[in-house]
Amino acid sequence: MTDREAIDRAWDELVATARRTVADGLVVGTSGNVSVRVGDLVLVTPSGVPYDRLGPGDLTAVGLDGRPARGTLRPTSELPMHLAVYRATGARAVVHTHAAHATAVSTLVTELPPVHYMTAALGGPVRVAPYALYGTEELAENMLAALRDRTGCLLRNHGTIVYGGTLDEAYDRTAQLEWMCRVWLAASSLPGREPALLTPEQVAAAGDRLRGYGQPG
Ligand SMILES: [Zn+2]
Repeated sequence: MTDREAIDRAWDELVATARRTVADGLVVGTSGNVSVRVGDLVLVTPSGVPYDRLGPGDLTAVGLDGRPARGTLRPTSELPMHLAVYRATGARAVVHTHAAHATAVSTLVTELPPVHYMTAALGGPVRVAPYALYGTEELAENMLAALRDRTGCLLRNHGTIVYGGTLDEAYDRTAQLEWMCRVWLAASSLPGREPALLTPEQVAAAGDRLRGYGQPG
């Protein structure tokens, strides 16, 4: 596969992932964004273009320094967060959403209580990054601190950001995070009742098992 083919294929996968965030209710309109890294290029959803209208001609890419590298559309305003993740981690894909339950949880706690063992899929209890204006370096810094030893975090009064080795992995972790936020909200909504939480040891044991998860070979 040539570089050009790899980039075109990654763009098709990015558009499919972005559409999936809308279809699955994780994003309303264009209120989220998706990126994928191919070599030293970061392909990213452009600002303000509905995902059902994105086609091959809209390919938008920047270098790791944020400089435009492909296309004429303006990259998402959340580009600083995406670039910060790629610079600081081995991420190959990043998904950012304003998913409803996750955003609700971000206003209530500083860390999502470990109500389910899938907490381990994100590296441990998911932190909430302090609020900062969207699109700013300050928000990217707050996010990086919250991401330490984690593959995702909540952004206070804003949403989620999650990374992975592939777009599918980043997407699946995002969906799991939103689902866990929904579970915690449901369980903690009964007056006078507190959800049972997992211990750090229980989360760690689930993490060990998840790393061995899947088909053998
Ligand atoms: Zn956002």
